[in-house]
Amino acid sequence: MKWVYTFGGGEAEGNAGDRDLLGGKGANLAEMSNLGLPVPPGLTIITEACVRYYADGRSIPDELKSQVSAGIEKMQAITGRIFGDTQHPLLLSVRSGARASMPGMMDTVLNLGLNDLTVQALGHDAGDARFAWDSYRRFIQMYADVVMGLDHEIFEEILEDEKGRLGHENDTDLSAVEWQHVISLYKQVIEEELGEAFPQDPEVQLWGAIGAVFASWMNPRAVTYRHLHNIPAAWGTAVNVQAMVFGNLGNTSATGVAFTRNPSTGENELYGEFLVNAQGEDVVAGIRTPQNITEAARIASGSDKPSLEKLMPEAFEEFQKICARLEGHYRDMQDLEFTIERGTLWMLQTRSGKRTAKAALRIAVDMAEARTITRDQAVTRIDPASLDQLLHPTIDPRARRDIIGSGLPASPGAATGEIVFTSEEAVLAQKEGRKVILVRVETSPEDIHGMHAAEGILTCRGGMTSHAAVVARGMGIPCVSGAGNLRVDARNELLIAAGMTLKKGDVITIDGSSGQVLKGEIPMIQPELSGDFGKIMAWADQSRRMTVRTNAETPADARAARSFGAEGIGLCRTEHMFFEGERINVMREMILAADEAGRRVSLAKLLPMQRSDFVELFSIMHGLPVTIRLLDPPLHEFLPKTDEEIADVSAVLGMDPAELRQRVDALHEFNPMLGHRGCRLAISYPEIAEMQARAIFEAAVEAARETGAPVVPEIMVPLVGLKSELDYVKACIDAVAREVIGEAGIEIEYLVGTMIELPRAALRAHVIAESADFFSFGTNDLTQTTFGISRDDAAQFLNTYIQKGIVEKDPFVSLDFDGVGELIQIAAERGRRTKNGLKLGICGEHGGDPASIRFCEETGLDYVSCSPFRVPIARLAAAQAAI
Ligand code: PEP
Ligand code: MG
Repeated sequence: MKWVYTFGGGEAEGNAGDRDLLGGKGANLAEMSNLGLPVPPGLTIITEACVRYYADGRSIPDELKSQVSAGIEKMQAITGRIFGDTQHPLLLSVRSGARASMPGMMDTVLNLGLNDLTVQALGHDAGDARFAWDSYRRFIQMYADVVMGLDHEIFEEILEDEKGRLGHENDTDLSAVEWQHVISLYKQVIEEELGEAFPQDPEVQLWGAIGAVFASWMNPRAVTYRHLHNIPAAWGTAVNVQAMVFGNLGNTSATGVAFTRNPSTGENELYGEFLVNAQGEDVVAGIRTPQNITEAARIASGSDKPSLEKLMPEAFEEFQKICARLEGHYRDMQDLEFTIERGTLWMLQTRSGKRTAKAALRIAVDMAEARTITRDQAVTRIDPASLDQLLHPTIDPRARRDIIGSGLPASPGAATGEIVFTSEEAVLAQKEGRKVILVRVETSPEDIHGMHAAEGILTCRGGMTSHAAVVARGMGIPCVSGAGNLRVDARNELLIAAGMTLKKGDVITIDGSSGQVLKGEIPMIQPELSGDFGKIMAWADQSRRMTVRTNAETPADARAARSFGAEGIGLCRTEHMFFEGERINVMREMILAADEAGRRVSLAKLLPMQRSDFVELFSIMHGLPVTIRLLDPPLHEFLPKTDEEIADVSAVLGMDPAELRQRVDALHEFNPMLGHRGCRLAISYPEIAEMQARAIFEAAVEAARETGAPVVPEIMVPLVGLKSELDYVKACIDAVAREVIGEAGIEIEYLVGTMIELPRAALRAHVIAESADFFSFGTNDLTQTTFGISRDDAAQFLNTYIQKGIVEKDPFVSLDFDGVGELIQIAAERGRRTKNGLKLGICGEHGGDPASIRFCEETGLDYVSCSPFRVPIARLAAAQAAI
């Protein structure tokens, strides 16, 4: 088995296409080597080795060891240095690299190969003893943390104490001798804490680090990250072992990260940060505030620290050329890591850059307009779920801004919430339904769950590429980072601004688009849906086959959905209309009536209300299809439950409370979800269905007269399992239609269809189709009844199922293709066998889920229907599925 692939010296054994094998980082290092770019030589241990490591009880195959040795020999030949040599030692970096990027989630070790002897040789070779000792202490710190499991804070404390004792402000102020002393303290604390010495043998160090990278695949933060991003644990991570180049070799050395375009706005400008005399992790960790790469960015940010462009013009120019080359080669915005060692540029990583939804749109549109990519490619470049970010509110420009601090606009959108200082509090608050802003000096990968629970993130330290910024952008959560004029006093739970002190629980607003931090809650406005968004949507619409409708019953929702591009209503849940205002009491009167005659009196009062609702919906939809579903939930949902509620309602209705209680008890069901609901109600009380049908037809007549646009109502019968159920209800509807048509003297076209939301209906679809004009898959109920899992109670155990890997995803969120999906396929095929071209749609929650939408496309449905805010997501996902 070939476990190791080498790269460097202008060639490589792999290339960018080998992502599954080499991980993202390894595949792109190989590609850059093949392109002849300056990449330090190295080797990649394939992802399969990690899988094998776990399968073999966390042990490393012998074959791997010999292949790594051979790879290191190649690196030695290219660099002219020898691993472990006491004259010209080769030092290594050991980094993880999974198929999907998992920034900061797994471990890295730099400067590997240093020991008490090689450190001397390194200093001698470089002519800089201080640099060698600085590298050695970094190595000890990282190795002890990552491989030996000693908390890095122990070392930070030692270093802070020493700096204090010596009167130094920065790490760079320490001399070689001072570092040597720090190192002796480090080694001492390792022995004290772990009872073993820091390993001096480079081979031992190397395998310790490789094992630690494999092990980090299963660390809790990596597990959480994979869970949040649907990355299978079975993929494993690759390990990249690469010759070190040094950004900490004095003031002509530097290290940095850059994006070929602005990752926040998508602007076509080189965008990045670097630190002089530093190593890679310093930039990402946000310990020092970095400098801008371009002069333009420096001027824009008002920084007084020189840009790379000014400081190291030659390296900058070469870097700029490489950026352009890589972006052209990959035809996408790249995220790069580089190091400059004594004026020489080295590329350490390139990958497709993470970006905000706004930037993704801008970049895709710009590249399509420049014909670098096609319009269809531009459409496929946008993650449909990320559109959510664009639908985020922003601060109303007319609002008064009480600014208490400012930082970098790290992730767009505005958010308001109570201040919390720990991730645990953020998670707790979310559970209690409170909105919070997570305020930290800086975030680390351990904060991932808290960041997810917060509305927004505020940090006082760190740049645009700090952990907080990168992760927040990825999650689509507003973030302000590096707000240096605010101070966090975590111990006393205070946020201190100039002239004021805020405490935990105080409300602030952050504006991730401007970087401002504001006191209190600020009015927000809804986002603009034109520009790049409009273009991508228009291109998506050209490539899309399925139509996209919305689930809406209120005029406000219907209008919002229209503005998001909905092409009709796929589900109007009429029961929602009965809960509003005064209507609920008329509804209760109807339910509590002693007999049919009594019910008809109340229904006559409900009729005009329903009719006017439908007139409004028809006129908002202006000729687009509107599917109205007959009443679905069991009647007791409308009745009061607690003694208090019963007392209130009986007073309003002028009823005896005891009698009301008796009626409520009589309607009680043990399993209401499987009880007296859906078409069963219409069969028990046809007068309800008749009233609703009359309201629909009269509204259609009125709307057609008012707007001049013909209205073709689609009436939908819920929870059908038997053809005879549908036939019974359809007969009521048809009879009412004949009456209304007779009264109005105009012809109305209409459709009567059914929900397919019970397994029996799916299996008997060929028979049911004889009576149905359309099917709409109610995948909420179909999931519930196929799994035999209650929609209302599932949350209690589904999370455990997901954590234990029993199911990969919540089947109520993303369609279970194998089970529920097969029923949908059966129903679609059998229904259309009876009625060629039978109209098919989906109106369960899955209608707004991109993966489920792809399934609907493949199954040949005609439309998906989802909540208004998911309409743009569905339009894009439907296009991507069709491309
Ligand atoms: C469904 O069951 O999928 C559906 C759309 O109906 P409801 O959620 O109203 O039961
Ligand atoms: Mg249903």
